[in-house]
Formats: sequence, structure tokens, C-alpha cells
Amino acid sequence: MIEYIEYKEKQEVITMIRETENLDPKALAKELLNDRTHGAAKAGAGELQKADAFAEGYKAFMNAAKTERETVTWAVQAAEAAGFEPLRPMKMYQPGDKVYYNNRGKALCLAVIGKKGVKKGVRIAAAHIDSPRIDLKPIPLYESSEMALLKTHYYGGIKKYQWTAIPLSMHGKIVRKDGTEITVNVGEKEGDPQFTITDILPHLGKDQMGKTLGEAINGEDLNILVGSLPLTDGEGEQQFKLNIMNILHQQYGIVESDLISAEIEFVPAFKAVDIGFDRSMIGAYGHDDRVCAYPALEAIFDCGVPEYTAITVLADKEEIGSVGNTGLASEFLNYFIADLAGGEGWMAHHVFSQSTCLSADVTAAYDPTYASAFEAGNSCYLNRGVGVAKYTGSRGKGGSNDANAEFVAQVRKIFDDNGVIWQIGELGKVDQGGGGTVALDISRLNADVIDVGVPVLSMHSPFEVVSKLDVYMAYKAFKAYFLAE
Ligand code: MN
Ligand code: MN
Repeated sequence: MIEYIEYKEKQEVITMIRETENLDPKALAKELLNDRTHGAAKAGAGELQKADAFAEGYKAFMNAAKTERETVTWAVQAAEAAGFEPLRPMKMYQPGDKVYYNNRGKALCLAVIGKKGVKKGVRIAAAHIDSPRIDLKPIPLYESSEMALLKTHYYGGIKKYQWTAIPLSMHGKIVRKDGTEITVNVGEKEGDPQFTITDILPHLGKDQMGKTLGEAINGEDLNILVGSLPLTDGEGEQQFKLNIMNILHQQYGIVESDLISAEIEFVPAFKAVDIGFDRSMIGAYGHDDRVCAYPALEAIFDCGVPEYTAITVLADKEEIGSVGNTGLASEFLNYFIADLAGGEGWMAHHVFSQSTCLSADVTAAYDPTYASAFEAGNSCYLNRGVGVAKYTGSRGKGGSNDANAEFVAQVRKIFDDNGVIWQIGELGKVDQGGGGTVALDISRLNADVIDVGVPVLSMHSPFEVVSKLDVYMAYKAFKAYFLAE
């Protein structure tokens, strides 16, 4: 039987109001209303300094790992240095054992076995390591009007006009027919050449400027400039294309058809830098979602021997719907848990049904310049700590996970008990649009899931902005969650 708290009788309510008339409204507000103290004031100088130190490590990571493949390579190296070993399926692990599973160099699961093993459930922090970018088409190289260019197919949700007239670098992998692999990275090292997508000058931009922002640049306009000299003195067929192919052949030993079996990504060549006279923020390409991946990694490295088994997942393909076998809609996390559970004689679903997960993904930070897109009272703000979202989605929570109240209560207690500065918010106004995360992919496995991540300005642009304090609070949040009893 449900036991409700009966609402008071009319006369009781009237008496109650009279009795509270002499209360101090200030004291009452402090007791009853949400704390609106600014994050910097809550944190104090000591925490702000720790946040700044944490940001230095984060910026170095951001410059070293700009794609999902580079992030997995970086993370595996860091994990091995921290004592992690490749997972041996069905092995009976002991508390404190550290294992990882590298899924095709593009996604990664890491676990620190807790004192309770996995049979009482695990704690998962799941971030994604792919970001919006410019991919190459299978037959990319062509020449036109004495220039060599690459045809592209953009990846993820971008505002295409933002990707013209900025410096780009090339990252990725080419696999020859015989299986030999070439890893490429051009444009990041000091002295490297860089690349760019051209735009029309304003003097001649009349037609373009008359279009809407969404139509001004279309997908077929995102062509990357890679050369402007012919192979010889201009004699013969396709001398401009041939000159570039010849350089690539000399450099990498590849022919044009090798680009068919390649994953080449062009990303902004910007380095991560401090933003603001007060140096309180970080500007970089791809904060979404490496700004959650890095704290989730550092948290699992620093969690000692936790009570419950701690798991950090770094997933690919979130930006295009978590598809493919390296995205979280695949079963790879399920199999990872099954392999751990098997060692203790359990099935994966026994573990998942008692597990919880922080879906570690960014949220939109309130931007006063675009205030009309946000509902000010339910938005996340820069410097107010790590952002919690009970639900995401669009058109009435469509495509969201919508965490259970019981689990939300657990999470806020963990954060409050451990000095984590946090806030809750929605991604913009109700009917303004929306977005999704990996939360629903993990909730499908019957775990309790909530979104927890860093608020971002200019999300999905080539140069996103976050606050150092919020990044550090994400780290504190994931660590506190892993260590909670
Ligand atoms: Mn994201
Ligand atoms: Mn995104």
C-alpha cells in the first residue's frame, strides 16, 4: 500500500503561516532555497589553483590526442604506466587488479577491480572520444583550375560555415591492401604545413551573403586545399593532382587506391590555450567530449582500491549516434562486463542490473549573447561546477534516458559529501532543439544512468571553450563516484 503524507487541513495551514511570520527571511532562504553562491567563491583560492594545475595536464592531453585513435593510444600508454594490463576473459580477478580492453584502437574500457568484485554491480564513467570533424571521401584527391584539393564528408553536427578559412591538420590511418598500416599526423608539429578550406571574399560574396547561414556553405563546398604546383612545367594530364600524389608516394609509399582503405580526419590545427585575462578558461578543438574523457581517465587512475569495481569507458562514434562496433550502441561494453563477471561465475546481466553509470558528456553552457536559446533558471553556467542533466533529448524528452529520482539523490549526496561543486541544467529551452548522449545505450543494459559533464561554450565549433574549475570538478565528481561506499 502506498502511504501518502496527508496534506494539512485548511485551519492548520492558516495557523502554520501565522506562526512563521516572525522568522528571519535571510536565514529561511539559506535553509530552504538552492545555494546560488558562485562556484569560485565556493571553491576558494586553493581549489582554483588545483583546477589550474589540472588544466595544464588537460591541455597537454588535448594537444597530443585530437582524434579517437590518438586518444586511445594516449590512454593505453597512460594506463599501462599506471599498472593496467590487457583483460584476460573469464579470469578471476582480485581487488586492486587493473585491466583494459582496447576495441580496435578506437574505443577503450578500463577497470579497477573493487573489494566487492563485480557481483554487487560496478560504477561506470562513460565518455566519448570522437568529435565533429572533416573526413575524406574514398576518392578525395582532385585538381581544379591549377590547384589540388581533397573532397570531404563532414562527421557529426557542424555549422559548416565555421570550418572555412581556419588552419586544419590531417590525422588518421591508411591501410594498404597487404594489411600494412601507416599512421599520419601532419600540421600539429612546429614547422609542419597545414591545410584549409577556402571561403569567398566579402567583396564577391553577394550571392553567398544572401543565403541563410545553413545554406551559405554546403557539404560539397568543404574542399581542402592541399597544393598549387604542377609536377612538371604544366605538361600532361592532371599535373597538379599528380604532384601531390607523388609527394604522398614518396612520403608514405602509398598510391591513390590506398586512400580507399583509410580513415583520414581533418581537424582544427589550433592548440589548447588559456582564454581570458584571468586565464580562467580553456579554448580548444574537441572539448566535446575529451573534456570528460580526460577527467574520467585521471579519476580511475587515482581511485586506489575502490569498494565497487570502477570502470571508465571511452567510446567512439557518439557524434553520429553511437553506431558501429566501436560505438556504445554495440555490445563491446556488455562483453567486457561479461568477461569480468564470468571470472566470478556470474552473467553480465546480474552485474548490469545492480550497476550505475555517469554518462560523462558535455552540456551547453549558458551564453548571454544567445540568451534566447536558454531558459536562464535551468541552464548550466561556466564556473558553477560540473553539470548534471537528469534527462537530455528533444521534443518532450524524446531520445533521453531520464534518470530515476532515487539515483539522482544518490549522486547529489556523493557530490555534496565530497566537496564537488556541481549544478543541474537542461540543454536549452524546451522546444529549442536538444541532443542525446550515450546514457540511453547504457540504460538499455538495465543500469541506472545519469548525465554528468562539463558545460561548453561554442559546442561543436572548431574552437570550444570550457572553465578550468568545471573541468577539475568533473575529475573530482568521477573520483568521488568511484570511491563512494
Ligand atoms: Mn558529447
Ligand atoms: Mn557532441
